[in-house]
Amino acid sequence: MNTQGEEMLQTAQNLIRQTGKTLNLSDADIQKLITPEHSHEAKLEIKLDNGSKKSFQAYRVQHNSNIGPYKGGIRFHPQVSLPEVQALATLMSIKCSVAGIPLGGGKGGIVVDPKTLSEAELERLSRAYVRAFAEFIGEEKDIPAPDVNTNGQIMSWMVDEYIKIKGGSTSEEQISKWRGTFTGKPIEIGGSLGRTEATGRGGVIALKELLSKLGSKFQASGPKPTIAVQGFGNVGYYFAEIASKEGFDIVAVSDSKGGIIYKNMEPLDIPLVMKCKKEKGTLSGCYCSGGVCELKGGRPISNEELLELGVDILVPSALENVIHKGNMTKIKAKIVVEMANGPVTEEAHDYLVEKGVYIIPDVFANSGGVTVSYLEWKQNMENEKWAEEKVNTRLLELMTQAFESIWFKFEKNKGSLKDAAFQVAIERMIT
Ligand code: GLU
Repeated sequence: MNTQGEEMLQTAQNLIRQTGKTLNLSDADIQKLITPEHSHEAKLEIKLDNGSKKSFQAYRVQHNSNIGPYKGGIRFHPQVSLPEVQALATLMSIKCSVAGIPLGGGKGGIVVDPKTLSEAELERLSRAYVRAFAEFIGEEKDIPAPDVNTNGQIMSWMVDEYIKIKGGSTSEEQISKWRGTFTGKPIEIGGSLGRTEATGRGGVIALKELLSKLGSKFQASGPKPTIAVQGFGNVGYYFAEIASKEGFDIVAVSDSKGGIIYKNMEPLDIPLVMKCKKEKGTLSGCYCSGGVCELKGGRPISNEELLELGVDILVPSALENVIHKGNMTKIKAKIVVEMANGPVTEEAHDYLVEKGVYIIPDVFANSGGVTVSYLEWKQNMENEKWAEEKVNTRLLELMTQAFESIWFKFEKNKGSLKDAAFQVAIERMIT
């Protein structure tokens, strides 16, 4: 049994239970909100390059369709388990509902370490997934997307397989709708401009919204608020890049091997740091990036140290449970933006909130990705292609509205921003 998955499921269900009690819901209603509507399982058998056959366990969980078709990514990871996928599908229902988009929660996964497969094997596995679950997905039923270790390339194999199964020569409008069964696709096959940056962009919108509500209650330590970002993948990188353009100082960034910082916490040049990371493979060797290390005294730092820096804002964008009982007393930031899924444990969350730290919860902070997925789906359904500016404007509108609803509940009921986000989501799911 996978205890981590079980724990995640327990946590998600407890949050819904607590919220249900606050909202005076009946036990029967709470039970309905907790229970996934469908949990599909399949064994995917594919041919390996050496001619032998291998089976992989796969899941698609459909949690709640009260608001609209199921929506959520497919992850490829050795630790995938049924309870974990159920937990993630549950959180997708909350995320879509808070975001104010007409979609419900779903999630899928395959128990596999994709690094052990060749590209051809990965393609066969992706196509096998679609064959196994084709009858349950569809542009009006359940709309998968990328998640951990999956990307636009995998979506393009999946869409291709799906359209093959649907079959027959047909109109361009119909093909566009079938393509809407998957989001996070490459632009050439119906992907949306702005989707790649959307999660990071949405996180910056969330942060700016919070700061505008806090007004003078938030005092930056310097002329500009300082930020440390843990994780320099798609989410962390775009968060850092967009935030620095929006007037924040990104003073430390890290990837799984460690990070970098200047002696006096001068701001980093994010695109330059990325260029260096691409050249060197990791970030920790990039503290001399741009030849300024002598001048500014750049140095590598560990991931642990990054989290404990005296910055105004902390942005964990990589792993789960990085802020926990062991380091919660050392966190100095006044705001934490949860760009990863579940980076702050329940215990650390309650401790920090009690101390007066504002934590923008993952179900809202990283909802920019699924929000632009929704805009991609809408373009496909209407056979349209929107300019990037239109996508970004819609994202801003949707996230601003979502934050208004969260803030209204937060001011009314107190507690944490997470409590408020769950209250907004669940009220919408039951009405
Ligand atoms: N996997 C992303 C998430 O967890 C995106 C989901 C989607 O776009 O459907 O939010």
